[in-house]
Amino acid sequence: MPEPALSSEVSAKHASTETPIERVKPEGPMVDLMQGDARWQIPVHQHGFIALVDVMPRLAPQGQTADAAIVQAARVSYGAGTKQVSEDRTLIRYLLRHRHTTPFEMVELKFHVAMPMFVARQWIRHRTANVNEYSARYSIVPDRFYRPTVDSVRKQSTVNRQGGDEPIDAGTAERFLQLLDRAEANYREYLDLTERGVARELARAALPVSVYTEWYWKCDLHNTLRFLSLRMESHAQQEIQDFARAMYRLIQPLAPATCEAFMDYEFEAMHLSRLEIEAIRAGAPLATQNKREIAEFEAKRSRLGL
Ligand SMILES: Cc1cc2nc3c(=O)[nH]c(=O)nc-3n(C[C@H](O)[C@H](O)[C@H](O)COP(=O)(O)OP(=O)(O)OC[C@H]3O[C@@H](n4cnc5c(N)ncnc54)[C@H](O)[C@@H]3O)c2cc1C
Repeated sequence: MPEPALSSEVSAKHASTETPIERVKPEGPMVDLMQGDARWQIPVHQHGFIALVDVMPRLAPQGQTADAAIVQAARVSYGAGTKQVSEDRTLIRYLLRHRHTTPFEMVELKFHVAMPMFVARQWIRHRTANVNEYSARYSIVPDRFYRPTVDSVRKQSTVNRQGGDEPIDAGTAERFLQLLDRAEANYREYLDLTERGVARELARAALPVSVYTEWYWKCDLHNTLRFLSLRMESHAQQEIQDFARAMYRLIQPLAPATCEAFMDYEFEAMHLSRLEIEAIRAGAPLATQNKREIAEFEAKRSRLGL
């Protein structure tokens, strides 16, 4: 019976028969889009932050940005390479306007974020990202809690059942902050009981949702823009809006043409329903009894100056 071939012999045999790897140098100089920095960080609230820690492409031809990776992918459809930056901008605007989404998935962004647990609960609903979070089973939760200032304790909105709007009176705000003090005071007992041997995975159940967590969050640009369109918007909770706006500031210099098109065609654009188009055309009321829909139409009319 023949002896089986040794693995080194196998790889040597393959190496000699495989076609060589062709290595192609870039046509011109490439620049690091993060300018050699390890992270770009923006503090958010007292203890939070959002930091951009990496981007793909990290290198771009000199004078270009990550927008180049989007047009490069889009142009594979008809074979031509990247054109002038001005043409790239036109193409990006066309792609975004017409919801040609996959070229925007060619850019990947990686963030390190520290945020209150209640913000993380909302954020994690965006399922297309890759996430790795601090483990409160493995490690002690750091002593960091979200606290609004007296002036930023919001009153429950009467028009939006999910939101708060104007500041509440100072006395009530103070009472709320005292309640937060009492919730945060649980932390000392949490520490003490973990030191006495209570499992960290159980002890954490006594901590309020104002406690901070951290994660690495990686997502492509298309889905990051989806996240931003929902979370920078005025109906999102103020605290997650603050993170989303900081995220936008980090992304904007990396993909300026895409961000500009996103603002123009999506974030600051307006969707009109069939009923709304008919009402505007006929100068007639909206053909519905739904009060919320009527209010939304009035808001759009006022934005249009009608
Ligand atoms: C103001 C506001 C209020 C909210 N209130 C509530 C609430 O009261 N209760 C609540 O539970 N949630 C609430 N949400 C969360 C909301 O319903 C969405 O779950 C969240 O915004 C994520 O949106 P998404 O699914 O579009 O995002 P992502 O998960 O990032 O997905 C992006 C897109 O990818 C596609 N996709 C992703 N995963 C799948 C999949 N498995 N199958 C098919 N397609 C997929 C979809 O097209 C989706 O739109 C709220 C969100 C906002 C902004």
